[in-house]
Amino acid sequence: MQDKQSLTHTHLSYRSVVDAIEEVIGENGKKAVLRFTGLEHLIDDPVDYDPEARVPYEYVTKLFFGVREIMGNKGYNAVMYRGGLISVKNIVDHSEPLRALIAMELDPVEKLKMGYQAYVRNTGHDPEEILKHITESREILIHRADCSECNELVKMNEMIKGITKPGCFFIKGIMQGIGDSFKEEIAVMVEESKCRLIGDKECMFRIKYEI
Ligand SMILES: [Zn+2]
Repeated sequence: MQDKQSLTHTHLSYRSVVDAIEEVIGENGKKAVLRFTGLEHLIDDPVDYDPEARVPYEYVTKLFFGVREIMGNKGYNAVMYRGGLISVKNIVDHSEPLRALIAMELDPVEKLKMGYQAYVRNTGHDPEEILKHITESREILIHRADCSECNELVKMNEMIKGITKPGCFFIKGIMQGIGDSFKEEIAVMVEESKCRLIGDKECMFRIKYEI
């Protein structure tokens, strides 16, 4: 089941993408991307780090397109991965629940799983349906058949021609960032092992952990 939350991004992640662009390509680079994408109002009036307020994902998609157009696929991957990491750092800074979870006295694997469940719920999904924890191989799998990062792009054959590897680096960065917030207790490595950009039916994120 999914509701319309999956069609939005939080202000916090929207702002984090803009911050990541600035961090990687500088203030002028950021301005160029915002002008190119018709989002120049964000230059003087950026959205705040609100973890609840939401924007339609078309806005964030515009940023995704702008970065890809200006920086190419490899540049996109670097900026967006960083954007995902920054988003989680911002979530920890601006949202009490994740901080509370990190500080909780609980089995680290349970905490890690709860962190990812909270993320899945925030995307408008039921963790029971799209998150699997495989204890034997120490991994958590998250299935996104409706991955919001590539949703618009998969409709555009021209733009995905040159893409030969999984390419949803913003979400991959978010997944890695969530794991890293528990790094005092557990080490996490994330890979996107299926991706709609290369013809798979879903994007699938594999989160391997070691205590
Ligand atoms: Zn993908």
